Amino acid sequence: MTHVFYRNSRTTPPKAIRGEGAYIYDSTGKRYLDGSGGAAVSCLGHSDPDVIAAVQAQVETLEFAHTGFFTSEPAEALAERLIAHAPEGLDKVYFVSGGSEAVETALKMARQYFVETGEPQRTCFISRRQSYHGNTLGALAAGGNVWRKAQFAPLLAETSHIAPCYAYRGQEEGESQESYGHRVANELEAELLRVGPETVIAFIAEPVVGATLGAVPAVPGYFKRIREICDRYGVLLILDEVMCGMGRTGTLFACEQDGVAPDIITIAKGLGAGYQPIGATLCSAHIHEAFAQGSGFFQHGHTYIGHPVACAAGDAVVAKLTDGGHVERAARMGEKLDHALRAAFEDHPHIGDIRGRGMFRGLEIVADRASKTPFDPALGINKKVKAAAFEAGLICYPMGGTVDGQRGDHVLLAPPFILSEDQIGELVEKLGTAFATVL
Ligand code: PLP
Repeated sequence: MTHVFYRNSRTTPPKAIRGEGAYIYDSTGKRYLDGSGGAAVSCLGHSDPDVIAAVQAQVETLEFAHTGFFTSEPAEALAERLIAHAPEGLDKVYFVSGGSEAVETALKMARQYFVETGEPQRTCFISRRQSYHGNTLGALAAGGNVWRKAQFAPLLAETSHIAPCYAYRGQEEGESQESYGHRVANELEAELLRVGPETVIAFIAEPVVGATLGAVPAVPGYFKRIREICDRYGVLLILDEVMCGMGRTGTLFACEQDGVAPDIITIAKGLGAGYQPIGATLCSAHIHEAFAQGSGFFQHGHTYIGHPVACAAGDAVVAKLTDGGHVERAARMGEKLDHALRAAFEDHPHIGDIRGRGMFRGLEIVADRASKTPFDPALGINKKVKAAAFEAGLICYPMGGTVDGQRGDHVLLAPPFILSEDQIGELVEKLGTAFATVL
């Protein structure tokens, strides 16, 4: 008998007892290789001594001081470290407790920016049909994931959606990557003109789509074109790097590889690496300046913003990612993971696509490779793969998505950057066992 309200209300999951490196152990002693870092969280594995020491030291010094009264040493240090490595123009950091809060903050910051600058008629957002930006009502409204939104639709603000940049399904035969990228990015301009560009606050997108598509990066040039369109119409660009940021794709910020800098960027998950719940919203100097010159007050906040222990954990994590070489390691080991996945599954009759960047990889499962036809959603392939992998001692993150009416199954892999080559082999072998059981 339990009083915990679990995600799945009919079953009680195994009890996790301890973590060590890339493994989690349950109460029966069973060991699981964490092939997805939970949900792209545990970038440094489960027992990093430096992050643990930073958390312990901070909780003994100052566990909490409300930001209505104080700033704190860890918040200042982490903000400085993040900005030192952030894309050009980003200058201020607003700390929250997780990804959805970071996105809510970004949406409200962008809205208030236009109130401050005398454009209060800007009231709506544009995002992509295949996107997930969080589960709170504002973030859920901004996202496009139909399955996650469906039953809450009556509570959600209307957002317009355009196609994602999803070359596997969207790029036409004979079309170059560049033309494809321009064609889908141009949907933003068409949508802006349809709704009236003067009414739009921002376009929000994940540089590498995570939970909804399974590690889908945009083709080269796509985000540059998106940036141009946003600039042309005075619309802010918000990049949601809650899942793909913090070194996951082989650079600290995923958008570095697309050669663009947004006005606002959201991060979480890997920022605390699971040692503390923390997220952040970074904004460019001109946005902060509008607040400073205007009302002087951001009408938003939570009790735990800038939590000192969470910021101390984040500071230790980012120090390891940047100065400790873990971002480079993610890039290097990510290539090895990609090779191992291709060697094992490239010719698999039900694996249609293997994609991603760094330690962020996705495999799309299809009923038929030639036609790219997905499995019947009623078969629940992704759930079965998750269960079979778990049985084999592998944590991975399979999801089903919908693209323009098509349902797809995919497996998302986001292992800790500390994974060894042997552990990459173990991951691929266990995933193979799961595929052999289900497909
Ligand atoms: N944004 C993206 C891109 C995400 O992938 C997620 C979670 O998966 C969120 C926002 C929400 O983050 P959280 O679950 O920490 O609220």
